[in-house]
Amino acid sequence: MYCKNIWTNASEDKKEKIFSFCEGYKTFLTDSKTERDAVSASLEILKKEGFVDLYSLKEIKPGDKVYAVNKNKNILACVIGDKPIEEGMRILGAHIDSPRLDIKQNPLYEKCGFALLNTHYYGGIKKYQYVTIPLAIHGVVYKKNGEKVDINIGEDENDPMISVNDLLIHLSAAQIKKPAMEVIDGEDLDITVGNIPLKDDKSGEVKNYLLELIKNKYGIEEEDFVSSDLCAVPAIKAKDYGLDRSMIAGYGHDDKVCAYTSLMAIVDQGKCEYTTMAVLVDKEEVGSIGATGAQSKWFENVVAELLFKQGNESFLAIRHAMEKSKMLSSDVSAAVDPLYPSVNDMNNSCYFSKGIVINKYTGSAGKRGANDAMPEFIAFVRKVFDENDIYYQSSELGKVDAGGGGTIAYILGNYNMEVLDAGVAVLSMHSPMEIVSKADVYETYLAYRAFIRY
Ligand code: MN
Ligand code: MN
Repeated sequence: MYCKNIWTNASEDKKEKIFSFCEGYKTFLTDSKTERDAVSASLEILKKEGFVDLYSLKEIKPGDKVYAVNKNKNILACVIGDKPIEEGMRILGAHIDSPRLDIKQNPLYEKCGFALLNTHYYGGIKKYQYVTIPLAIHGVVYKKNGEKVDINIGEDENDPMISVNDLLIHLSAAQIKKPAMEVIDGEDLDITVGNIPLKDDKSGEVKNYLLELIKNKYGIEEEDFVSSDLCAVPAIKAKDYGLDRSMIAGYGHDDKVCAYTSLMAIVDQGKCEYTTMAVLVDKEEVGSIGATGAQSKWFENVVAELLFKQGNESFLAIRHAMEKSKMLSSDVSAAVDPLYPSVNDMNNSCYFSKGIVINKYTGSAGKRGANDAMPEFIAFVRKVFDENDIYYQSSELGKVDAGGGGTIAYILGNYNMEVLDAGVAVLSMHSPMEIVSKADVYETYLAYRAFIRY
């Protein structure tokens, strides 16, 4: 099953399972454009499957299905195993944030008769990919009295369209000579939102009309933007890709594809020998920092809470639980692109439809920022995959010195936990429309399910 094509020998039954599993994923992806959206979508699945809030329970016992939510941006789903948690867990860790344009805290301004929203991009984007595409605004505004206003504009068929302008080709003589990173200036990624002036108002007419509109519709004032989390994301739905429908196009496969497959593995596998969990974190695209990123103490706090609810208050228990755990850092890999093969070492790259991708290390330059999984652990994972007929492949992130990137693997590795990066191959990564293979999505789900049983 190593480096072989899944479709070649797939039975009709398997093909059917691949396609039907991916229907659920497409819905999840469309509903999970931001980390907040992904937490809501995950919570809906978990509640339907009988998972309950860990903090509502006095004690836990084998077979209990629990979840914990951190600040609506970070969620963990867990099934309590037969063995005590102190003996270690089986963890799948993915991230649910994706690159996008964030709306600034004083966003609204007027120029040349237009009202615009100022943005500050989030994560690694090619700025030129974000102009002249339909955008949607997702997020929340908190008023001083604590009231939360949910915002979702641009997804509904009847919603207006908004986007970032680009200079017409006729007058682009100077612009198109610039390097790609400078073609669009970060400060020019502003969203056009209006053109009607407010009646009898001399200065800031268009902006004031917009403010009146916003106040009438959402009850928020201009100052309320200061306490908001608003994200501009591509306004596209996840859809089948390719004339043979073998792939899925959508915004945010990195890393919702591993988040969904991890979550469903926990949900569908049920009780195991060891306690199993899917941890879905925020902020990976900006360094896994802060309260909701993988570096947050929150995860450790939840494990401490689990131990406490198993009646284990030993101060050493948390250290043992972390150190004895095994984890797949569920994150995507860069697939070989037929249009740009020169960035890859072909023998150490991943390909569509050849199954889950393992990366011993990621990082850049001399493997800087990598976790570098132990060969003993990789051998263990290979055995699991082989015993369960899982298609898998091994890859690096491109040629040496071609670029690089990281995952959350090293952060959990810091607990002396065994961690290996393993996930789905993606094309056009970090673009507004990323692509994955349906066969890989399903195979990754099967791989995660198998892993947590060992
Ligand atoms: Mn990622
Ligand atoms: Mn990424």
